[in-house]
Amino acid sequence: MTSTLGISRPGAADLLPPTLQTIPEAIGKNIAIARRRTRSRIMAVVKADGYGHGAITVARAAVAAGAEWLGTTDIAEAARLRAAGLTAPILTWLNPSGVDAEAAATGRIDIAVGSVDELEALLAQHSPAALRIHLHLDTGMAREGCPVPEWDALIAGARQGERRGKVRVVGLMGHLPLADQADPEANAPAVSRMRRAGNAARAAELDVPLTHLAATSGTLTDPATHFGMVRLGAGLVGIDPSGTTELHGASRLTAPVVHSATVEAGTPVGYGGTYVTGTSTNLSVLPLGYADGIPREISPDASVEIHGGRHRVVGRVSMDQIVVDTGADHVPLGTTATVFGPPDGVAPTIRDWARWAGTIPHTIVTGIGPRVNRTIA
Ligand SMILES: *Cc1c(COP(=O)(O)O)cnc(C)c1O
Repeated sequence: MTSTLGISRPGAADLLPPTLQTIPEAIGKNIAIARRRTRSRIMAVVKADGYGHGAITVARAAVAAGAEWLGTTDIAEAARLRAAGLTAPILTWLNPSGVDAEAAATGRIDIAVGSVDELEALLAQHSPAALRIHLHLDTGMAREGCPVPEWDALIAGARQGERRGKVRVVGLMGHLPLADQADPEANAPAVSRMRRAGNAARAAELDVPLTHLAATSGTLTDPATHFGMVRLGAGLVGIDPSGTTELHGASRLTAPVVHSATVEAGTPVGYGGTYVTGTSTNLSVLPLGYADGIPREISPDASVEIHGGRHRVVGRVSMDQIVVDTGADHVPLGTTATVFGPPDGVAPTIRDWARWAGTIPHTIVTGIGPRVNRTIA
């Protein structure tokens, strides 16, 4: 590596930068597992940059493994998938700054509509072709989704819009509030609301080809929630919120050891000296900190893998670095440490990190910062 002054820094050229590697093969295997649990179509949800794994990479792997649909939060994310050459139908369900009807129509991007107001705003826009919409109905979450008392008005308005050639209602959509429970009993009220929505649409002579309600947990645990399609997000990248199914971890976070030192017993480590070495030991520094998504609130159990063994992260997590106690092992500069990886190895998993940080694996993978290099296995 060469600095801006043109002076070479010996050794630095050999360091592999901190890297998040996405494993497409694991995504394919997770789709295959979902496929064995449902006869319905599968939408691959790749919002938040594919749960931090790269939206385009995850979408391509999912489509190659048989996912028929793609889902994102907004039109901008969907447009990036189109620009990358993905041709599957794409649904977007939250467009906070309003819908650009032109972009949606030209990109063949579907829009979820969750209120009469949203529908009217759409119908008021000019668009070069009928917009493909999904009526998003509140099935018990009180988040997005049209509240029950407004359903009939929304359905009637959508039917009108179809008659005028402004929209085509492609789907009816709900969302399960208990996304982390493997309990059909708990999903039953949402399932019956979804059925009620179907009946209301039929009564209004609105013929809707597709109904969809389930996300990963419903897909894996409750066939009654599957309807015509399931929307798989977390499950694609190996996270099972229901805790029932061993999925395949789809990423690996590595970093080089950039500094190693042998220290005496009684050495305070990091800001505040919250950890003091009990014996003479070796410390290794990794160039990843909370700015890169390493949670600052980890428990003392947190560890990384170096040379095939687990070593504890000690002292406070800094913005740019963490310190690892490697005991008797004086780790050479440039050695690769694995912060997390798939569950079949020695390295910790994202589930381990979530436990150490008191959070869910989703926040670990979506929190990896932009300084971390991205690769595909
Ligand atoms: C995020 C999201 C999903 C995917 O949920 P997972 O539990 O990650 O599979 C499905 N539907 C909607 C509306 C979402 O926002």
